[in-house]
Amino acid sequence: MLADRLARGSGKRVIVVDKRPHVGGNAYDHVNEAGLLVHRYGPHIFHTNSVKVMDYLSKFTEWRRYEHRVLAETPKGRVPMPINLTTLERLYGRTFSAEEAEHFLRSIAEPIANVVSSEDFVLSQVGRELYEMFFRGYTRKQWGLDPSQLDRSVAARVPTRLSIDDRYFTDRYQCMPLQGYTRMFERMLDHPNISLALGLDYQEAKTTFTFDGLIYTGPIDEYFGYRYGALPYRSLKFRHEIRDEEWHQPVGVVNYPSEDLPYTRVTEYKHLTGQQHARTAITYEYPSAQGDPYYPIPRPENAALFQRYRSLADATPGVHFVGRLATYRYYNMDQVVAQALTTYETIGATHAEAQTANAA
Ligand code: UDP
Repeated sequence: MLADRLARGSGKRVIVVDKRPHVGGNAYDHVNEAGLLVHRYGPHIFHTNSVKVMDYLSKFTEWRRYEHRVLAETPKGRVPMPINLTTLERLYGRTFSAEEAEHFLRSIAEPIANVVSSEDFVLSQVGRELYEMFFRGYTRKQWGLDPSQLDRSVAARVPTRLSIDDRYFTDRYQCMPLQGYTRMFERMLDHPNISLALGLDYQEAKTTFTFDGLIYTGPIDEYFGYRYGALPYRSLKFRHEIRDEEWHQPVGVVNYPSEDLPYTRVTEYKHLTGQQHARTAITYEYPSAQGDPYYPIPRPENAALFQRYRSLADATPGVHFVGRLATYRYYNMDQVVAQALTTYETIGATHAEAQTANAA
């Protein structure tokens, strides 16, 4: 995004460095050996309420409508997630109006005066039985931590609904880039002022190139040589499979909250991409402490450590820290796009100020 803005918007020459051999970061998708479009780093599902973000990305892609739906595997079968009226109906074998569900949930919820952790959040909404069925095991696997050790914001990503809306997201815009994310990024980067240095580590790049500004999207602790110690990030391992069946599961993602299984969810891409094919591609996600950093881990001590790095970042002129890893925020894709566009505006303002100062 910033390469595009700086090149197309400000006439800058830009080198995009990535240690991976491809563009697009974790949103990278590609056609596998069976001819199926898959996401190498797990499912990336686009949704936003921002007209600005939608307009910006639409310069580089057309879209296909896709509303994401998720089922969770429970002892009572597969039920829609987030918890909604249909989920309750399947679990308890009776229908619920919104008022009845509200009353029922209030009767099983645990009163918690100060909702701090993800455990507090879920218990205070739906009580212990549903907490254990849907959240406890999934979260312990995903983060290697108990929900009581994570900020409420983590579980609050998946709030309970008093309606039959079983979509995973409620955003105004929900869609997938028609020809995939990689194609979108390729078009974004297709400009004479933009060159790519792929398969190159930042440490090597910084001694190879001369530059007068830097957009840094790697882990912020790494940038500062882990001066205050390592910031924790959570990683994932993926098991990609091609199956000799047309469809593997009824929806894009099935969640597996049980701690008896090592993976958290299975994605079947054809639901997301709309591709028609006699075979199908799926991905299992295995959370891991080792491997590339994917998620910052939202909890107070990590936020405090990040703030120390952020103070260093604030005192580092000419370097802009952007994205999940560099700003240590559990951002969705649209939030990262918005952050990048805001950063571009900041750079423009700083640049204009510097020019005014030089002229004076
Ligand atoms: N979560 C859960 N059970 C679920 C779905 C989500 O416990 O069935 C919790 C879990 O802690 C997860 C968080 O909610 O990490 C956020 O879920 P989301 O689907 O937004 O995760 P992401 O797609 O970002 O990995």
